[in-house]
Amino acid sequence: MTRLDNQQIAERDLRVVWHPCTQMKDHETLPLVPIARGEGPWLYDFDGRRYLDAISSWWVNLFGHCNPTINAALRQQLGRLEHVILAGFTHEPVLELSERLVKLLPEGLTRCFYADNGSAGVEVAVKMSYHYWLNRGQPAKRRFVTLSNSYHGETLGALSVGDVALYKQVYQPLLLDVITVPSPDCYAREAGEDWESHSRRMFAHMEATLERHAHEVAAVIVEPLVQCAGGMRMYHPVWLSMLREACDRHGVHLIADEIAVGFGRTGTLFACEQASIRPDFICLSKGLTSGYLPLSVVVTTEDVFDAFYDDYTKLSAFLHSHSFTGNPLACTAALATLDLFASGQVLERNRTLAARMARAAAPLADHPGVGEVRQTGMILAIEMVRDRLGRQPFDWRERRGLRAYRHALSREVLLRPLGNVLYWMPPYVLTDEEVDLLGVVTAESLELACA
Ligand code: PMP
Repeated sequence: MTRLDNQQIAERDLRVVWHPCTQMKDHETLPLVPIARGEGPWLYDFDGRRYLDAISSWWVNLFGHCNPTINAALRQQLGRLEHVILAGFTHEPVLELSERLVKLLPEGLTRCFYADNGSAGVEVAVKMSYHYWLNRGQPAKRRFVTLSNSYHGETLGALSVGDVALYKQVYQPLLLDVITVPSPDCYAREAGEDWESHSRRMFAHMEATLERHAHEVAAVIVEPLVQCAGGMRMYHPVWLSMLREACDRHGVHLIADEIAVGFGRTGTLFACEQASIRPDFICLSKGLTSGYLPLSVVVTTEDVFDAFYDDYTKLSAFLHSHSFTGNPLACTAALATLDLFASGQVLERNRTLAARMARAAAPLADHPGVGEVRQTGMILAIEMVRDRLGRQPFDWRERRGLRAYRHALSREVLLRPLGNVLYWMPPYVLTDEEVDLLGVVTAESLELACA
């Protein structure tokens, strides 16, 4: 058998594969990295090099690659059932997963609807909210309120309720008409202002919007605590508490998109816990299966469920489906993930790990090219700027993040900056030494990127 090397694989790949979120021409000069195997937080290529997965492969991996517990659970399930239609049929993994999620989620979220990726989950929540109001005799409530700089996925409905221009602008003519409210993003706070005061002050925009538009609004959709794709911008939980109260007062649903921040990323199992709120819909994906298999779930209330429950001929049912809805293998990976949370004191250990991350990043805060180092739980971000005092950003065309990416790769670390934002969102299995390596390599990458 001939041994494959990186170059052979890359050449073959670039003849047939169109890669996501990529200007393919970049690969004329930027080497593609073929991965042969993974173990823990490390990825290994075909030439014997390795890479520390500091971004959990797009924020999905929680417990390392090829995790023995999840592998074993999947092997067992493979011998029983790989997939079955979920309409009219059911299976143990989906049943058990639903029961366990309902127990773990804020009280009152009791009904689980499955889809097969994050964007599809957002589509479900958006359609369900609109349809709820229609079934309740309020067809005018058909618009959605979203935050500036938010991100909820790439399918047309999910793209509509997001606000990252890089992904959205081109497709604007195809999208829903949404109402965009300024984000409570604390990077924009005044000098001397704390996160809580800033977030409270910014709520005035949401309040004014709801006051004016509630009659035509089905739901507000937010990423609780961290706007991830928008550059890991963060805000205080008080803003979420205020939003819950205002949504109740104005008769508008609250959709919490915890696709990226769920499952411990912000320090609590779900970010909404930090504001002690229960959304009307919570969307989960990514870490739900520890990044093993695509799966998403929208969990909602009895009130929402009841609005669809009637005789078939009333045509009030939620007739939405995806072929792989509730796939048994994906649900098994999710169950193994919950087992790992249950058995391992994961959130407690993450507190220590997050403190270590803070220490490893602390020296970067004073760098002349750093506007801010911010952290919420296991998410840490470093904002690169041209001018530290005025916080003037680098021109995006300079592609400073790409410079950092290249250098980090040469030093065995997979960082994948979001524009000018370097960030860590690692699997929860890093050792102290690996966190320290991240600190050192990020410092070098920053130096090089800002030069
Ligand atoms: N919502 C949020 C908050 C996300 O971060 C993402 C993915 N980055 C999505 C939705 C979309 O998920 P998917 O990529 O699985 O479609």
